[in-house]
Amino acid sequence: MKLSRHKYIRRLLNYYRTHFNIEPPFIILIDGTFAFEALQWKIQIDQQLKAYLETQLIICSTTLCAIKETELLGGIAYGAMLILKQYDIIKCDHYPSISAEKCFQKILIKDKTKKYFLASQSLSLREFSRINRPDLPTMLIRHNAINLERPSINSREIVEERKNEQINLSKHESNVLKKIKHELNLDENENDIKKKKKKKHGINPLSIKKKKIKTLINQSISNNNKNLSKKKRRRTRQIRMSLHLKQHLKELEKKFSIKQFFHLE
Ligand SMILES: [Zn+2]
Repeated sequence: MKLSRHKYIRRLLNYYRTHFNIEPPFIILIDGTFAFEALQWKIQIDQQLKAYLETQLIICSTTLCAIKETELLGGIAYGAMLILKQYDIIKCDHYPSISAEKCFQKILIKDKTKKYFLASQSLSLREFSRINRPDLPTMLIRHNAINLERPSINSREIVEERKNEQINLSKHESNVLKKIKHELNLDENENDIKKKKKKKHGINPLSIKKKKIKTLINQSISNNNKNLSKKKRRRTRQIRMSLHLKQHLKELEKKFSIKQFFHLE
């Protein structure tokens, strides 16, 4: 149970940190109802908040209107008043003072710190915060312990909208990228098509070239052979003989090979 509680709170804090940049120091806005409930359960608010939120950077805060309210309630809220008086005072400039609920509502609307946590037993005040400040965590005391509430529907809707916006933006960016790539002739798809086309033509020219080379080589070889044979013939032709001698040789050839005689074979 203890582990799952820690996991739960870490997940919630991570949610507010990720989507709404809420990071320590956390300013906990505490009213008389929360202080009163803490006293009933003998909860040391400051200590339990530090343990629960897993940080020493906790600033327990209240307003003069909230303190004034506990004073007006008299003896029943005396303990709560003593607790609130220990805390940092957030200036609200309400004079004369108004109810803690109204005071906190105005502070939450005007807030620019974006670091507040609302701690109150008042359901209507927490609802006000969850509707008007969906970026802020709310907490209450329940079952003898401080509990962070789940993010409100408004809060989750904002997160969803932002996610969708990011997706749309990336789509727009991807379109711009495509355009730039196209202009720079870096379009992957086009290149692929070109490559494919080149491949189709690429094999043939190369193969043709090889054939050409081969044929050229063959031709040159055959030419050389021809030349060689021509040269050979020339050699034979180079032997100049008179008609008389030729006739004589022909007669001799009938008896033996002249080529053998001249060592031509
Ligand atoms: Zn006030």
